[in-house]
Amino acid sequence: MNKLLSLIEKLEKEKSLSFEEYQFLIENRNEEAAEILRKKAVKIRKEIYGNTVFIRGLIEISNFCKNDCLYCGIRRSNKKCDRYRLSKEEILECCAEGYELGFRTFVLQGGEDSYFNDDILCDIVAEIKKNHPDCAVTLSLGERSEESYKKLRLAGADRYLLRHETADENHYTKLHPKEMRFENRMNCLKNLRKLGFQTGCGFMVGSPFQTTEMLAKDLKFIEEFKPDMCGIGPFVPHSETPFANEKGGSAELTCYLLSVIRLIHPPVLLPATTALGTIDGNGREKGILSGANVVMPNLSPSSVRKKYELYNNKLSDGDESAQSKENLSKRIKKIGYEIVTGRGDVYNG
Ligand code: SAH
Repeated sequence: MNKLLSLIEKLEKEKSLSFEEYQFLIENRNEEAAEILRKKAVKIRKEIYGNTVFIRGLIEISNFCKNDCLYCGIRRSNKKCDRYRLSKEEILECCAEGYELGFRTFVLQGGEDSYFNDDILCDIVAEIKKNHPDCAVTLSLGERSEESYKKLRLAGADRYLLRHETADENHYTKLHPKEMRFENRMNCLKNLRKLGFQTGCGFMVGSPFQTTEMLAKDLKFIEEFKPDMCGIGPFVPHSETPFANEKGGSAELTCYLLSVIRLIHPPVLLPATTALGTIDGNGREKGILSGANVVMPNLSPSSVRKKYELYNNKLSDGDESAQSKENLSKRIKKIGYEIVTGRGDVYNG
């Protein structure tokens, strides 16, 4: 058997490869290997989650951001970004509408907007949990202090998504302004885990300066950290950022890595991301057929959707909108999977 195929067998059995082996797996990939990986990833996801797909209602609460990440369309230097923030009432309305539509997880995502201090956020989280005790609240609001995460956890937040963006420190400094530190991001992830959040990390595929070595580091990090969730999607350039003219990532490599991540950590909640759906009309389906088991339709008020533009042409309407859940269900059914109503917690034995 050739080396590539024997590495895939080894990964399936041991859920671990060396750094060099991960690199080989990425560098030497071909359609045959991708097909074998997909089959194994699907088999193991079905053993744990059957053919169910979990849905999350994504509420983009603010596009104000104090950070200046070089890849991101809502970075503070983008003067053309039309800024907004949702009020508590608007957020609660989104949740009520989402509940009616069958969502049982609400993800509050946003830029790092200092308006949303601990008091304001805790009040919102507690109110969502009071209105919908059978729902999970996920936060994705960037880096905060351990104290702040603790308050949010006590207010009832269940999960936190904080992509590590890249596990290579040198690469991290090329994607972020110098006041943002790799060590800080990694510490945030550790604190979140310690506080009992279901914790998600993740990275962009094909971000500027990324090499297969760096991707191998991301995989090794995932193997060691064993996140409850892992968000990966292709990098897509945004015209008002320093990376406007950089190349975007591919759906092919994103799907390949989804399969690899499923084999590394079988219970992981793995979304077929909006970015994947944006660069490929069948991205969501391809993601699920590669081992993903989560989709996150957009539940933001339609008036602000276009303003949360992390990258150009980001999907927010059509089948990306929470209101099109029925249509999304049909599409998912067509490929043999089923959207379910429920919190969709991570499997833990
Ligand atoms: N402020 C929050 C949420 C950031 S937006 C935080 O820091 O976690 C959510 C994710 O979108 C980011 O973590 C990043 O990985 C992704 N993203 C940002 N710009 C992108 C781009 N140009 N292409 C693809 N993904 C992007």
